[in-house]
Amino acid sequence: MRALILSDIHGNLEALQAVLAAAPAYDAIWNLGDVVGYGASPNEVVDVMRLLADASVRGNHDKVCCGTTSANAFNASARTAAEWTRKQLLPFAAAWLQTLPQGPLHPPNSASMIAHGSPLGEDVYILSIREAWVPLQQSSHRTTWFGHTHIQGGFQLLAKDWRTIRPETSGTRYPSQRTFQLRDDSTRYLLNPGSVGQPRDGDWRAAFALLDEEAGSVTFHRVPYDLSLAQGRILMAGLPERLAQRLREGR
Ligand code: ZN
Repeated sequence: MRALILSDIHGNLEALQAVLAAAPAYDAIWNLGDVVGYGASPNEVVDVMRLLADASVRGNHDKVCCGTTSANAFNASARTAAEWTRKQLLPFAAAWLQTLPQGPLHPPNSASMIAHGSPLGEDVYILSIREAWVPLQQSSHRTTWFGHTHIQGGFQLLAKDWRTIRPETSGTRYPSQRTFQLRDDSTRYLLNPGSVGQPRDGDWRAAFALLDEEAGSVTFHRVPYDLSLAQGRILMAGLPERLAQRLREGR
């Protein structure tokens, strides 16, 4: 199984198109949630993902934008964007978002798990090895994939040997692709492909990952996209300026 793993697309059609154009050969697409929210092309992104995704879990923005939960826990710009998205969503898109299951789940024909936040709680952030520790110890799968933090990388654990995985090489600049070989023992991995549509790890380029289960390898990718067009759509839609600005900063 070669899985193309996409997370936190956030209504950014330009970033999604660049990722799909750059993606190496794959057998399945796994969607880790937050397909919509923040970005200005929610219907277009849903239309692509509902056809392409072989396995999906819902994200916190998906739940709010399709009316499953309220926006009370969101900050001001996230709430403004969620309310805008809710009004924009066409019936087909809202209906698809409502069908997205809660993670974690096991994608068909694979040996992995996928979740939006933590496998122990769909809205929980995993930002450090401290937060990764319990889910790693409880995992019975070699790789568990998560999103929600918009930070590419992850964590690994075998007994008392724990490590943080960071693909970046110089400063905040990530390599356009970096392959990690998974260890051939019972090491457990919690891995984050990064965010397609709103990276927050200091690199503005769209992030994604490819898992090759047979080869035991993971490749983290970064790909440039038409940033000005995505920003222009956000401003034209009347969404908060900060949502356009942060795309360039990768924050
Ligand atoms: Zn998100």
